[in-house]
Amino acid sequence: MSPLNDPRTLHPKIAPPEQTQPHPGLDRDLEPQADIGLESYQGNGRLKGRRALITGGDSGIGSAVAVAFAREGADVAIAYLPEEEPDAQRIVKAIEDAGQKALALPGDLCELEQCRKIVDETVQAFGGLDILVNNASRQIWHEGIENIPDEDFDATMKSNIYSSYRVTKAALEHMEPGSSIIFTSSIQAYQPSPTLLDYAMTKAAMNNLSKGLAQELAPKGIRVNAVAPGPIWTPIQPSHGQPQEKITSFGQSSSLGRSGQPAELAGAYVFLASDEASYVMGETLAVTGGTPTP
Ligand code: NAD
Ligand code: MG
Repeated sequence: MSPLNDPRTLHPKIAPPEQTQPHPGLDRDLEPQADIGLESYQGNGRLKGRRALITGGDSGIGSAVAVAFAREGADVAIAYLPEEEPDAQRIVKAIEDAGQKALALPGDLCELEQCRKIVDETVQAFGGLDILVNNASRQIWHEGIENIPDEDFDATMKSNIYSSYRVTKAALEHMEPGSSIIFTSSIQAYQPSPTLLDYAMTKAAMNNLSKGLAQELAPKGIRVNAVAPGPIWTPIQPSHGQPQEKITSFGQSSSLGRSGQPAELAGAYVFLASDEASYVMGETLAVTGGTPTP
């Protein structure tokens, strides 16, 4: 039997039914369910003893990263919005089932105080902080710039850029040489959709911040990188992240012909967090199903 797995069929080509959830959306209510690696991810001690904080670690990509980090031997704190408690509890259990410490940090990262609080509580619970994943983001689609309400624009900037900047700043007070910071950018940083103008500009900003910070922090022994996902099936999409007509064919125009699953992202984050990436800084790792990034 061939030992190969064909990437075209390793995960199913899904055609989700029309569906809407209130923002921020729940993995629990996604149809079909997303694969976050609960059945498949096998750790190998690559993050043994590390202490990680993942914003938006309750669902989607962040939850797949949380599961993988824990199975690689890290204690993992997840920050999320209070409405997402059911998803968060599933991930807390998965981290604990891996034999690691879990910390649940509900709260709104648009608030300055919350950004500092999640760092302080992680350091208090785990005795330090070695890996930060700036992954929380808000994505609400609008038809045209004139239809983006000012309050929506503000909330997207605050959830995505302000929070990443503030959490990073607070985390750096605690990070030692060998630590790693990873931003979740997007293919949207390079190829913005006209329906996602505000979101796409935040993804470009996060990518840019990761490259500038990488240069500042390399001489201090702290590595900074980013991951740019393509279309991944997560609750961000049906909770006003895309128009309905894009949900039913979601991801099918990628070179692979299917959307990605959160589980397919975990390896990229584990690599960037681990010592295997000791000479990798200021990189954006594209996980796009074939769509090129410059
Ligand atoms: P997701 O909805 O599962 O995760 C986003 C998380 O962001 C939420 O779970 C929520 O906890 C958090 N969040 C948003 N606003 C917040 C706030 N104000 N305070 C606290 N937490 C907040 O969806 P996902 O697709 O896994 O998104 C994770 C990251 O991946 C995001 O940065 C997103 O931009 C990025 N991304 C996703 C895709 C995709 O196709 N799904 C593509 C490219 C990039
Ligand atoms: Mg969520």
